[in-house]
Amino acid sequence: MIEMKTPDDGARRTTQRVAPELARTLIVAPHPDDDAIATGGLMQKVLASGGRLRILFVTDGESNPWPQRFQQRKIVITAADRAEWGALRRAEAICSLASLGVPSDTASFLGFPDQRMSSLLFSGDQRLPQRLVQEIEQFRPTLIAAPSKLDLHPDHRAISCFVHDAVKRAAVEHPALVTYVIHGGADDHRLSSRFELTAEERQRKRAAIACHVSQLALSRERFLAHARSSEMFYLPEDDLERPGRLRLWSGWMRHVFRVLFWWPKSEAAPVVADPDTPSERKARAAHV
Ligand SMILES: [Zn+2]
Repeated sequence: MIEMKTPDDGARRTTQRVAPELARTLIVAPHPDDDAIATGGLMQKVLASGGRLRILFVTDGESNPWPQRFQQRKIVITAADRAEWGALRRAEAICSLASLGVPSDTASFLGFPDQRMSSLLFSGDQRLPQRLVQEIEQFRPTLIAAPSKLDLHPDHRAISCFVHDAVKRAAVEHPALVTYVIHGGADDHRLSSRFELTAEERQRKRAAIACHVSQLALSRERFLAHARSSEMFYLPEDDLERPGRLRLWSGWMRHVFRVLFWWPKSEAAPVVADPDTPSERKARAAHV
């Protein structure tokens, strides 16, 4: 089941059951794994409906020191180590997409610096918005799924601002834009679309997340908990101000706190009952 409402709907009105136009769906992922976590179900629905997908990974997720220290048993992470980690995460992303039946040539890795997207935003760097405009004009998406300005992760918030700008600047009929929150939450009144996943879709989404072996080592339960029975997407956020440095910093602190000390049980919804899938075992075996 797919439910959707438009920005003109009343804030608390029941959502209308109108299927979003999935013919050409563009997914913007700040890091490898955000695509599977936020849109693993959406991607399956696009493919099942005969639609086309385009996935943009803005960064390689290379600045990910604690999982890397833990897995490689080293304290000092060099630039070469980060590059190696980024390559590993790109490979995991391709594995993850393949597990959903998404061809690797639908994805592009843009190579922007991990953990530095807010700096690029504040400096007025135009490289990402220009690339996004180019992608939108070439692919002409009917739907764009992008990170939310309400997400606690600064990269997600900054990239959300870049996407909103690019959608306005692109010389195409404006596609539908929905946003997703991975770290933190959004108010129910901003809900735009809710995708209910079948047991099979949920299972495949779980397997896609499990391909990100580098991320599961320290946070397995937290990551796999995203294979819930539904995916939520929120309204475009042109009405929300661009977050300032202080808000980005406080959001990041809240995110770190949540990861380290507090993971609400309500978010850690039980996943389908299979502790280990064949694709998960294959991904782990290939992992170095
Ligand atoms: Zn992310």
